[in-house]
Amino acid sequence: MPAKIDEETCSACGGCAEVCPVDAISVEDVAKVDAELCTECGACVEECPLEAISVEE
Ligand code: SF4
Ligand code: SF4
Repeated sequence: MPAKIDEETCSACGGCAEVCPVDAISVEDVAKVDAELCTECGACVEECPLEAISVEE
């Protein structure tokens, strides 16, 4: 499963988008993941200060 954003929790800080190696995240009002690009690497999960992103097996 591609990375999933908890839109209620996301503050749109942009940290996840900066660390995503494949530029799969765009941030406007909230972060959005392009499921076609996401490789499920987990880098964004580590970066998010609010634990708003998760990657499930
Ligand atoms: S899991 Fe990796 S590839 Fe997918 S959105 Fe997060 S940083 Fe990008
Ligand atoms: S790092 Fe977390 S809070 Fe910041 S934009 Fe990404 S999902 Fe939202």
